[in-house]
Amino acid sequence: MEKTLVLLKPSTIQRALIGEIISRFEKKGLRISGMKMMQLDDAILEQHYSHLLNKPFFPSLKASMKKTPVIAMCLEGVDAIAVVRYITGYTNGRKADAGTIRGDYCMSNQQNIVHASDSPEAAEAELKRFFKQEEIYDLGDLNMDRLYSVDEA
Ligand code: UDP
Ligand code: MG
Repeated sequence: MEKTLVLLKPSTIQRALIGEIISRFEKKGLRISGMKMMQLDDAILEQHYSHLLNKPFFPSLKASMKKTPVIAMCLEGVDAIAVVRYITGYTNGRKADAGTIRGDYCMSNQQNIVHASDSPEAAEAELKRFFKQEEIYDLGDLNMDRLYSVDEA
């Protein structure tokens, strides 16, 4: 089963959207196999956003990601990485399609509600960055017969 990392960013916590956003992923049929609240610091943010270190907006991105704790989630499903990116939507909430999380819940290019891993390599590295092995649970066949056909699962 493919696994991916989602972070509910401080914008979600500040705007009291935690339940609403978790519900979007849950209703889609993604299974939650890990979840915790954590306060991020400079070290983890500099790793996590290493591709953006030299961007002029990096200091404000870092500050926005430290405003409150975040909620880290491990979501799993068939093609979970691509599915989660698809329902997350384009980075800038003002340009994201209606029906996507960013399109429906934000106006910002930075305070855009969620982070989602963008490739299998990123998902693997990011899950290791935010979770210990024992914090990701084996859900067995929970709900699988309702979510997928026998040849998909
Ligand atoms: N970001 C920003 N300004 C920009 C581009 C990105 O503040 O012009 C922030 C935004 O919060 C985004 C994060 O940096 O979610 C990571 O950027 P990336 O290009 O990886 O976008 P994502 O994968 O989150 O869609
Ligand atoms: Mg990204």
